[in-house]
Amino acid sequence: MARYTGPVCKLCRREGQKLFLKGTRCDTPKCALERRSIPPGMHGMKRSKMTDYAIHLREKQKVKRFYGVLERQFRRYFQMAERSRGNTGERLMQLLESRLDNVVHRLGFAASRRQARQMITHGHITVNGRRVTIPSFLLRPGDVVSVRPKPKSIERVQANLSELSRPVPDFLTRVDGDVPQGHFGRLPMPEEVALPVQPQLIVEICSR
Ligand code: SF4
Repeated sequence: MARYTGPVCKLCRREGQKLFLKGTRCDTPKCALERRSIPPGMHGMKRSKMTDYAIHLREKQKVKRFYGVLERQFRRYFQMAERSRGNTGERLMQLLESRLDNVVHRLGFAASRRQARQMITHGHITVNGRRVTIPSFLLRPGDVVSVRPKPKSIERVQANLSELSRPVPDFLTRVDGDVPQGHFGRLPMPEEVALPVQPQLIVEICSR
């Protein structure tokens, strides 16, 4: 599973927007974007006008970085979105939101998508009662995401749940109990997508 392993705060600085890649630190004044909001690199101070292509590209890169998806996998999601019925941009965002690592994070089980990915690969998460170790696993409406009933797994998730206070979106339902669970009720509406984006720009650049 290829993934980006470099510094993450510079990704937020490049996009000029918080991408919440570092968990709880992102909500504190220690956030690198709040302390230094210029793009990374020696020419970061220069403000040049963005071309049309650059505007489209930045939108795509922002989404890829937010969900932790590399180019090849992103292209695959785009092809899936193109093949399905309805608006391609909206469908693309629904696919990204249906990823298991995203759902684990949005349920509050993990502080960040990165941490969610680690929890999944280490076998702490089950889907419909079966252990799933693939962070890109796509959930379908009706699926139940749960923490493995092992003390180590539950302890970790309980710690995150008590520390984080981010609201759970309406398309998900969290059941707090001895073993925390989440229900993937339906596909998200455009306004429920975690990152405000213009999917049309992504469709345009991916269709070139
Ligand atoms: Fe981005 Fe979080 Fe780093 Fe802030 S602390 S720049 S939101 S990754």
